[in-house]
Amino acid sequence: MEVVCLDMEGVLVPEIWIGVAERTGIEELRATTRDIPDYDVLMTQRLRILDEHGIKLPVIQEVIAGLGPLPGARDFLDELRTLFQVVILSDTFYDFAEPLMRQLDWPTLFCHRLTVAEDGRIAGYNLRMKDHKREAVKAFKALNYTVYAAGDSYNDTTMLGEADAGFLIHAPDNVIREFPQFPARDEFDELLASFRDVSPRF
Ligand SMILES: [Mg+2]
Repeated sequence: MEVVCLDMEGVLVPEIWIGVAERTGIEELRATTRDIPDYDVLMTQRLRILDEHGIKLPVIQEVIAGLGPLPGARDFLDELRTLFQVVILSDTFYDFAEPLMRQLDWPTLFCHRLTVAEDGRIAGYNLRMKDHKREAVKAFKALNYTVYAAGDSYNDTTMLGEADAGFLIHAPDNVIREFPQFPARDEFDELLASFRDVSPRF
């Protein structure tokens, strides 16, 4: 029995913070873990910037809803879910992902949660656990599932390494170069074919 674990941002939906930066015109929000490797420092900075601009959660959710899934993502996910059990493992927050999950017909998502004040101000965030993507794959394997995974960036590589088969999808060149052990795919149909190829059921 098999589970497919997918990253969300950069795979099924655009990078949320880059989208928020573009739509709000706040350039400082473009920073990612590539600019500020310490995620705590990065998130604290993002929340401070939102506060300074008086931007509360409902505004961000509206922006995120407008981003929409990447072209072809909904069809890919719909078909994949007819073939495998699928779980999305993301480092985003439920509060942000909800408008996008609605457009993807509510797939199963494991991620983190924000702390939101009554007036909608984002007061903080709670990471459910460290390296949770890898821990989820380990846990599925302990439940006797074979796990296939796909992601696009550095925060996916421990998940891909832990899985029985791991693929890069829509990954930038530097990630493809640094992790040649994970076959790189550009298109959803190639990735779908790869999952079928590694599965003994097809
Ligand atoms: Mg990603």
